[in-house]
Amino acid sequence: MHIVFLGAPGSGKGTHARILVKKLKAVYISTGDILRDAIEKQTPLGLEADKRINDGYLVPDNLILDLVRQEFMNQKSEKNWITDGFPRTVIQAEEFDKFLHEIGQEIDYVLEMNVDKKLIVERLTGRRLCRTCQAPYHIKFNPYNEDGTCKVCGGHDIYQRDDDKKEVVLKRLEIYDERTFPLVNYYKPKGKFHSIPVNTDEGIEEISSRIIRTIGL
Ligand code: AMP
Repeated sequence: MHIVFLGAPGSGKGTHARILVKKLKAVYISTGDILRDAIEKQTPLGLEADKRINDGYLVPDNLILDLVRQEFMNQKSEKNWITDGFPRTVIQAEEFDKFLHEIGQEIDYVLEMNVDKKLIVERLTGRRLCRTCQAPYHIKFNPYNEDGTCKVCGGHDIYQRDDDKKEVVLKRLEIYDERTFPLVNYYKPKGKFHSIPVNTDEGIEEISSRIIRTIGL
């Protein structure tokens, strides 16, 4: 199964993409994770991406498309895959469709996490990550262990991303509306688009069950 997760930053797409990755034993393709890794290793891609990410802007389409193609080649994946945070512009979506066509694959589901914008700022500014395995947490909705360790890998370094600071979050939301939200209209006519409503009073399990029902598992 081939799934694209869409949604504003802080909509929970990373959390739910990872749940499905486990369930489907799928390859997980998060352009954000790949970029953060490149920044940490100070590769040419990392150096180019660093400032844009910290200011809340998108990384140029050509760099993202190169890294996604590379990722597909590395994984040799004719198996299940799930993208999280890609595509993020109409150009990326068009080029991704062309690339998939070339390698004889197609997207089965585009899942849009549909969250009230008011919730998003609270979600993002409260988000924390494990530096070792990148598992996502939230100080209120999904806390890590009380002793400060990661529930997934036991790592001791839980941190806040620089781009989860409030002023950057507001910029990212503005960029999402402008550049990424148009993807809803790009994918809707293709018949594989599903909006997943995310209500404020729901836990991760309820939302996850809704996703699982949507994709008929
Ligand atoms: P994420 O972890 O998906 O929220 O991504 C963090 C940041 O990486 C974004 O705010 C962008 O600056 C950059 N980024 C990640 N994926 C993409 C993409 N597909 N296109 C452009 N920039 C991206």
